[in-house]
Amino acid sequence: MRALQLVSDRQLELVELPDPPAPAAGEVQLRMRAVALNHIDVWGWRGMAFAKRKLPLVVGAEAAGEIVALGEGVTGLAVGDPVVAYGALTCGVCRACREGRDNLCENVGGIMGFHVDGFARDLVNMPARLVIPVPEGVSWGEAACAPIAFGTVEHMLFDNARLEPGETILVHAGGSGIGTAAIRLAKAIGATVITTVGDDEKAEKAAALGADHVINYNTDRFEHRVRRLTGKTGVDVVFEHVGPDTWNGSLLSLKRGGRLVTCGSTTGVSAQMNLYQLFQQQLRIFGSFGCRMANIADALKKMAAGTRPVIDTEFDVAEFDRGLERLESRKVFGKIVVRL
Ligand SMILES: [Zn+2]
Repeated sequence: MRALQLVSDRQLELVELPDPPAPAAGEVQLRMRAVALNHIDVWGWRGMAFAKRKLPLVVGAEAAGEIVALGEGVTGLAVGDPVVAYGALTCGVCRACREGRDNLCENVGGIMGFHVDGFARDLVNMPARLVIPVPEGVSWGEAACAPIAFGTVEHMLFDNARLEPGETILVHAGGSGIGTAAIRLAKAIGATVITTVGDDEKAEKAAALGADHVINYNTDRFEHRVRRLTGKTGVDVVFEHVGPDTWNGSLLSLKRGGRLVTCGSTTGVSAQMNLYQLFQQQLRIFGSFGCRMANIADALKKMAAGTRPVIDTEFDVAEFDRGLERLESRKVFGKIVVRL
């Protein structure tokens, strides 16, 4: 089978590897169809020092594929079923796993495509408990955006920030993969969405996606605009993933008792903040990483019902690094999908 391996920093190679063995008891074998790209892929490709991993490493952290073989004792799944896979190798037995809080697993064995071999290969054997069926009407490329992008946003908006219909949310970087997902998922429940983008072309696209107000952060101080747009009260929720460049403006954009949820920090690791503001304004800050498997199933249901991912570009597997470069350059609007 073909597999796309990271062999050294920024070096990918499409290689031939032996097919995996028949799936063991409790496993399924998947023929992968599409991989979607995320910033975690860019970190891995650049060689982020914190990741314990061995090279060569098969890349691809979120993906969709078709079941081609079932191991002994697998029930509820059939050959031919389209599925997505949960890419963190959870233990399935700790308290967090048993309670469905999969991303808090106490014995997680690594993230596929980042710490251990990922999905950019023709065939993968997976524990059947980590696959989630894809409903009818969702394409391979769309389904591939569920396990990380849409799942993460579901978890941020609805488990952590508990966004409610009628509330107002500020979504940073509305043209990014998760930004576009956040705009769509927040609008779908009837929230008012303010979003930031870096240029006028993206501003038009974000408005077309349904954002109620779009701010170009290169020409306007977003926190001032947000306060004006909300009659000086601020928003209920800020959806953060930018980091130091926006952190203090994000806190200033919140109303009293507002919630900030963050899943990323693309502009650096440290920020200073005003602690008086934190407690006097009774702000709540949520760190969010990954999602529960149930968030992915919910995301797929919403996709089937019409809340679809925005696909920026599709590449062939041999052009995976072109996709990473495009993501790194921030010229994207929506998700990048790689076909297998
Ligand atoms: Zn566990």
